[in-house]
Amino acid sequence: MKIRDLFSMARPLRSFEVFPPKRDGDVESLYRCFEELRPLKPDFISVTYGAGGTNAGLHYEISAHLIKMGITPLAHFTCVGHSKAQIREQLDRLKGAGVENILALRGDPPKGSLRFEKPEDGFGHASELVEFIREHYDFCIGVAGYPELHPEAESADSDLKYLKRKAEAGADFITTQFFFSNADYAAFVTRLRTVRIHIPVIPGVMPVLTPKFFARDWGVKIPPALREAVESASSPEEAEARGIAFAAEQCKGLLRLGTPGLHLYAMNKAQASLKIYEALEGA
Ligand SMILES: Cc1cc2nc3c(=O)[nH]c(=O)nc-3n(C[C@H](O)[C@H](O)[C@H](O)COP(=O)(O)OP(=O)(O)OC[C@H]3O[C@@H](n4cnc5c(N)ncnc54)[C@H](O)[C@@H]3O)c2cc1C
Repeated sequence: MKIRDLFSMARPLRSFEVFPPKRDGDVESLYRCFEELRPLKPDFISVTYGAGGTNAGLHYEISAHLIKMGITPLAHFTCVGHSKAQIREQLDRLKGAGVENILALRGDPPKGSLRFEKPEDGFGHASELVEFIREHYDFCIGVAGYPELHPEAESADSDLKYLKRKAEAGADFITTQFFFSNADYAAFVTRLRTVRIHIPVIPGVMPVLTPKFFARDWGVKIPPALREAVESASSPEEAEARGIAFAAEQCKGLLRLGTPGLHLYAMNKAQASLKIYEALEGA
C-alpha cells in the first residue's frame, strides 16, 4: 500500500516510528511491540535507518516482517556513506522485500563530524535523493520537515526553499520533526502553503517518558510546563503518566487543527501510544 493513497480517507492516519534495535537479539521485543500496536490499526510504521547504514540488515528484516503482518512499512533511507550505485543496490533490496514507501533523508553527519560530507558519487541533500528515487523507482516518497527549522538551516527562508525543492523533486508527503507547540506546527504549514507546497504534513509527536529526555539537546523548544511536570514527578511511573498526558493533549489539539495524521515517536515501546489513543478515544 502506498501511503499517498491513504490521505483520501476521511480520517487522520495513524503512524508510529521505531528504530532497529542495536543488538539483533532485541528484534523479538520490537516484534512484540508491533503486536501490541496492532489493535490501533496502524496505517504505517516507519523504521529508521541508522547513520552510515548501521543495522542496515535489520532495517530490511523489520520492514519485511511488517509486510508479513499486513502492516505497511515506511522505510527511512539516508544518503550517508552511499554512492549512487550503493543507493540503487539498497533501494532494489527494499523494493524486492515489498517495500513501497521510502522516507528520503540526507542523514546526520557521522559522530565526531560537524558537517555532512557528501559521499563520493553520492548526494549532499535529500532533494537529490528524492529526484533520484523518482527517476528510477515507483516508491511513494516522504521527506522530513522541521517546524522549528533544521538545526543547520541558514535561515527560515532557505529552509523553506530547500523543502520546496524536495516537494518539487517528487515528495508525496512530509513527516515533521517532533515539536511541542501546535502553534509552531500550524505556522509551519501556513508558511508551506504560502510558497505553494501543498503536500500533506504529518505532525510528529514525541511522548516524553522520563526526565532523562531533557538531558539531550534535541534542537526543539521544550515547554517549561512539560519539563516541570515530568521532572517534579515523585516516581518514574508518575513522570511517564504526566508525559503521556501532555502528548495526549497535544494530539487532541492537532486533531482539532485537522492534521492529515498523527505520527507518534513510539521508540520501540507500545504502551505510551496505546494510552494516548485511549485518551483520544475517550475524549
Ligand atoms: C521525520 C524524521 C525522520 C528521520 N529519520 C532519520 C533516520 O531514519 N536516520 C537518520 O540518520 N536521520 C533521520 N532523521 C534526521 C535527519 O537525517 C537529519 O535531520 C538531517 O540532518 C537532515 O536530513 P534532511 O533529510 O532533512 O536533509 P535536507 O533536506 O537535505 O536538509 C538538511 C539541511 O541542509 C539544508 N539544505 C537542503 N538542501 C540544500 C541545498 N541544496 N543547498 C544548501 N543547503 C541545503 C536544509 O535547509 C537543512 O538545513 C530524521 C528526521 C526527521 C524529521
